[in-house]
Amino acid sequence: MSSGMNRLVVVGNGMAGVACVEQILKHAPRFDVTIFGDETHVNYNRILLSSVLAGEKTSDDIALNPIEWYERNNIQLRVGTRVTDVDPAARTVTSQDGAVTPFDTLLLATGSSAWMPPIEGLDKDGVFAFRTLDDTRALLGRARPGARAVVIGGGLLGLEAARGLQVQGCDVTVVHLMHTLMERQLDPTGGGYLTTRMEAMGIRVLLGRSTRAIRGGAAAEAVEFADGTSIDAELIVVAAGIRPNVELGRKAGLQVNRGIVVNDHLETSNPDIFAVGECVEHNGVCYGLIAPLLEQGKVLASTITGNKGPTYTGSVQASKLKIMGVDVFSAGVWADADGADPVRFEDPGEGVYKKLVVRDGKLAGVILVGDTSDSARYMEWLRSAADLTKQRRHLLFPPAGEDTGLDIAQMADSATVCGCVGVTKGAIIQAIHGQGVNTLSQLKEATRASTGCGSCTSLCQDLLKAVAPEFEEEGRRVLCGCVPFDQESLRDILRSQKLRGVQDVLDIYGNGHGCEVCKPAISYMLDMLWCGDHDEDRSARFINDRVHANIQKDGTFSVVPRIRGGVTSPDELRRIADVADKYKVPMVKITGSQRIDLLGIRKEDLPKVWADLGMPSGQAYAKGFRMVKTCVGTDFCRFGTQDSTAAGIEMERRFENLFTPHKVKMASVGCPRNCAEATVKDIGLVGQEGGWQVVVGGAAGKSVRKADLLITVETTEAAIEAAEVFFQYYREHANYLERTYDFVERVGIDRIRKETVYAPDTVRQLLLDRLRKSKARSRDAWQEGAQPVHPTQFIPLQPIEQGLM
Ligand SMILES: Cc1cc2nc3c(=O)[nH]c(=O)nc-3n(C[C@H](O)[C@H](O)[C@H](O)COP(=O)(O)OP(=O)(O)OC[C@H]3O[C@@H](n4cnc5c(N)ncnc54)[C@H](O)[C@@H]3O)c2cc1C
Ligand code: SF4
Repeated sequence: MSSGMNRLVVVGNGMAGVACVEQILKHAPRFDVTIFGDETHVNYNRILLSSVLAGEKTSDDIALNPIEWYERNNIQLRVGTRVTDVDPAARTVTSQDGAVTPFDTLLLATGSSAWMPPIEGLDKDGVFAFRTLDDTRALLGRARPGARAVVIGGGLLGLEAARGLQVQGCDVTVVHLMHTLMERQLDPTGGGYLTTRMEAMGIRVLLGRSTRAIRGGAAAEAVEFADGTSIDAELIVVAAGIRPNVELGRKAGLQVNRGIVVNDHLETSNPDIFAVGECVEHNGVCYGLIAPLLEQGKVLASTITGNKGPTYTGSVQASKLKIMGVDVFSAGVWADADGADPVRFEDPGEGVYKKLVVRDGKLAGVILVGDTSDSARYMEWLRSAADLTKQRRHLLFPPAGEDTGLDIAQMADSATVCGCVGVTKGAIIQAIHGQGVNTLSQLKEATRASTGCGSCTSLCQDLLKAVAPEFEEEGRRVLCGCVPFDQESLRDILRSQKLRGVQDVLDIYGNGHGCEVCKPAISYMLDMLWCGDHDEDRSARFINDRVHANIQKDGTFSVVPRIRGGVTSPDELRRIADVADKYKVPMVKITGSQRIDLLGIRKEDLPKVWADLGMPSGQAYAKGFRMVKTCVGTDFCRFGTQDSTAAGIEMERRFENLFTPHKVKMASVGCPRNCAEATVKDIGLVGQEGGWQVVVGGAAGKSVRKADLLITVETTEAAIEAAEVFFQYYREHANYLERTYDFVERVGIDRIRKETVYAPDTVRQLLLDRLRKSKARSRDAWQEGAQPVHPTQFIPLQPIEQGLM
C-alpha cells in the first residue's frame, strides 16, 4: 500500500457499484479507489435506456456521474476494460489488456446480462438484446418507421423496448411465453388491463407463444413459434430475462448459487471480497430492481469502511413503474393462495384495477394498475406488517375527509420515495429544510427525485405540500388578484357557466376591472374554449395583438408579411421593395425565421402598408402561431429524404391566424441534419428514411431545450395531423403565457403522448374538430373588409387604440 490507503478495486461501473462507492466516500477517506467497467461510458441510469430508445433522452441526459465526479474523488476509472480473472490469494485482478491490479479490498458489482434463451437463429443480423447503452444505440440504428419489430418477452424490459420501438414508428408485436404480461408483477386481471392498453396504443400482443426459431438468411426475416405459425420480423429484441454475472465470483472461489452469496453485511465467503447489486444472492433472492440494490449499497458502505453494524435483511419485492404511460405498482405476495383474502376494485372505463391481499389481518400483497396514488400507504403497511383488522372496510377507499398527509406522515424516513434514483423520504425532507426547496423543479435539482420514470411525482408533490413552508404548485398558481382562480379552475368555470365575454367573467368571478395580467389570459381562454365564437374584447388583448404589429422602442412598428414556409416569389419581393420605397422604410431585414421585416413604419401608415403589400399578416407579434421554418428538402438537397418545404407550407396554412397560450414557432426539415433547427422549435417535423419524427417542446431562445419525440409516422399527412393534435392539446391545457417547453416538462411527454397521438380515435378526432372549428372562424388580421364570422368578434382594422403608447 504505497499511499498507506486501502486499495479498493470495484469491478462494475454500473448503478449499484457506483452508488455504493458514493456512500463509501461519505465516510472518512481511507481508500484508493479504482473502478473497472467494461462498457465504454461513465455510470448511467440504466432505467432510462427506454427513454433513450424512445428518443426522449440522449446518452448525456442519463449520465449519473460525469467524468469530473471520478476526477474530483480521485477515482481511477478504467472504462471499457473488462476484468477477466481474480487471484484471491495474491489479491489481484487481471484485466483484458493484460494489466494486473492489486487490491486490499475487492468489490464485485458486475450486475447481470441479458439471458438469451435456446432459440435457433439468434445469431442472425437484426436480433438484439436490451441491456446496455450500446444495445440501445444499435437498436436505434435499425428502428425506422414501418419496420416490423418483434419483442420476445412480455416482462418489464420487453414492454419498455416495445414502447421505445413504437415511438420510433416501428410496427411492434410483443410475444410472451406466459398467458399474462408482466406475470411476476401482475395477476391475470391486472395483466389484462395492461394488454388492453397496449393494444389500444397499436402494439400487438401474442400471449402463450413459445418462440422456436428466428428464420431468414444472414438477416432475420421471421419469428417462428412452437405451434408452427410464424410472423414476419426484421428487427427482434430478446428480453427474456437476466442472469447474474457470477463468473468472477466463481474464479475467486466464492460461494455462488444463482448469484454470489452474501450475508446481512454484504460479505461474501472471502473476508476481502464483497459484492453488491444484481450479481448478488441474499437469503436465496437475486434482486432485479434498483431500490433493493441501493439499500444493499448503504449497508455495504458501512461494512467496508469498518463501521460494521447496519444489516441488510432483504427488501419487500416492490415495483412502481410506468409502462406505456400506465402506472403500475406491485408489491409483496398477491397470489390468491390458501388463506389469502383478496379485496378488489375495477373500473375498466378508466383503466383502473386495484387488488389487495390480506392474510391474518395483515397486508400481504398489492397490485395497482392505472392509479398508484395510494402505493406509499400500502408499502408502509407491508413494511410495518400493520394490523389492519379495524381498517378492513377502508383498505381501498379511506373514510371521507381523511387527509392524505396522514399517510406521508406515517412513512418512515428511510422509506424510498423515488425508486429510480433511490431517494428516501428523509433525504427529501432534508432538502426541503436544509436547502429551502419549495417547488418540484427545485426538488428535482436538489435530490434527483422524480427525474426517472416519474411515477413518484405525485408523492413528491404531496411531501412538498405537507412539509415545505412556502410550497408552490407549479403551473397551478392563481391567475392574479383580480380573478382568484388557478387557470385550470377558471377554464372549467368559463366552460360550465358558458361565459363568452371578458367583462362578464370579471363582473361575476373577479373584481369587475381586471388588469393587464388577467384580461389577455381570459380573452385567450374564451377564444380557445368557444373556438372563436366568443365576444371579442380588443381592449383585453396584449398591445401587439391589438395593433397587429410589433411596437419598436422608438414607437414605430415592424411589419412582417406571411411568407409560408419561407418561400416567396419575385412578385411578392417586388411589392415588398415598392412598399419599402414608398413608405421610406428605414430598415428591411431578413429575420431568423426566414421572413422579411420592414422596420420603422409609422402607426398611421400601417393600414396602407398592409393594403399595398396585399399579403397576409405574418403574425410576428402574436401570442399565437408564428411561422414554419423549412429547409430545402428533397427538391434541391442531395440529403433530403422528405419534402420539408411542402410540409412546412401546408403546416403554415393549417395553423396561421390561430391564437395560442404563448408564441408557437415550428420548423420542418428533410433529414436529421436538421438545417432549419426543427429540434429546438415548439413543434418540429424531422424527415427520415420512410417517415417523419414529430418533436415538441423545443426552444432556442432564453431557454435552450431539445424537443421531445412525440411520435414517428410514415406519411406527411400523419405527421402534420400529429402536430395539429399536439397544438390543440397545448392550446387547451397550457397555462396562459406558458411556452411549450415548460408545458411539456410540466405535464410530461408520456402523458402528452397518451392524451394526444395515442389517445383513442374519438378523443383525437375531437381535438382536431375543435382546432378546425377555430381555424374556420379565424381570419387574417390585416385583411381589409374581411367579414366577421361572429358579429361581436369583429376586429376593426384601425390598428391603434387611443392611449396605447
Ligand atoms: C432497459 C432497462 C430498464 C429498467 N427499468 C427499471 C425500472 O424501471 N426500475 C427498476 O428498479 N429497475 C429497472 N431496471 C433494472 C436496473 O437497471 C438494474 O437493477 C440495475 O441497473 C442493476 O445495477 P447493477 O450495478 O447491479 O448492474 P449494472 O447496472 O448492470 O452494472 C454492472 C456493470 O458491470 C459491468 N461488468 C460486468 N462484468 C464486468 C467485468 N468483468 N469487468 C468490468 N465490468 C463488468 C457491466 O457491463 C455493467 O456496466 C432496468 C434495466 C434495464 C436494462
Ligand atoms: S435538413 Fe437535410 S434535407 Fe434539409 S437541407 Fe439540411 S441536409 Fe438537406
